[in-house]
Amino acid sequence: MDIKVGIPRALLYYNFYPAWKVFFNELGAKVILSQKTNKKIVDDGVLNTVDEACLPVKVFFGHVINLKDRGVDYIFVPRIVSVEKRRYLCAKFLGLPDLIRASIRDIPPIIDMEIDLYRGYNRNVDREIDRVGMIFTKDMRKIRKAKEAAIIAQNNYEKHLKSGLIPREAIRIMEGAKVVKAPDSGLLKIGLLGHNYNIMDEYINMDIIKKINDFGGTVITADMLKESDIEYGASCYPKDMFWTYGREMLGAGRYMLDSGIVDGVVIVTAFGCGPDSLIKEMVEKEYKRRNTIPILSLTIDEHTGEAGIITRLEAFMDLLRWKEVV
Ligand code: SF4
Repeated sequence: MDIKVGIPRALLYYNFYPAWKVFFNELGAKVILSQKTNKKIVDDGVLNTVDEACLPVKVFFGHVINLKDRGVDYIFVPRIVSVEKRRYLCAKFLGLPDLIRASIRDIPPIIDMEIDLYRGYNRNVDREIDRVGMIFTKDMRKIRKAKEAAIIAQNNYEKHLKSGLIPREAIRIMEGAKVVKAPDSGLLKIGLLGHNYNIMDEYINMDIIKKINDFGGTVITADMLKESDIEYGASCYPKDMFWTYGREMLGAGRYMLDSGIVDGVVIVTAFGCGPDSLIKEMVEKEYKRRNTIPILSLTIDEHTGEAGIITRLEAFMDLLRWKEVV
């Protein structure tokens, strides 16, 4: 019988799921994904974390509990230190496996693979992948093959994102589904800034992408921009931002402002997020100083109501349309 590995549909799932899935599948394991975020998942997450935790971490806890209840053999909770050279992720990612073990009772064993690319891809990274691979097989060739397949899957996934797909569309395509993008000519272009776990989780953000589409807009995210565009935007600031995804948000925001590829920008941040409050300030300040492209800032938490988001988005889209005709 296949070993079942649960992967929480939260946090960096939106960035790395295809690689993780292929890696475990190649090792002979079956991947079970937690259900889409729903009220119970959010409530369970809130109940099992401290009040001070940010919303995405609370939601992640809820997804772990969802998997625990589905009889998986392991739950994958990587300890993600860094995903690129000389930059870090926010400290919350480092302690995640320990926090989960300390807070949720009777959970299956956690696979706490450390992902640390701060010094680039090196032998320590390989050793860590091998350590996890050996949970499933002692055949080192099989582990190497799984690793290579995961890298290929990740590269393909990122190509789909660069082509203008959002994560759920790219994941569906990689799983063999046919996804047809609606033509977007004549729509307002909205730069949507935020961590993928905030802007792509339809439940916690009240399906903001669909709402923007319904109001006549099409979204452009940081994932869809070229690396060089983000680099350009980030380099406009005097100091290098050391958080990978904060820098991405900052760089994308500045590139969108300078290039004028969007009609307006919506920035989504989570309540309780220290890094985001700083990034949001920096992005907003520049937009307001230049006063050329309108920006709407939305903060989400577990109590966010749909009516508030609809009202603010609708008014924002009306403003953009009005701006187009004057
Ligand atoms: S960057 Fe912010 S939202 Fe993301 S895990 Fe850290 S504190 Fe939470």
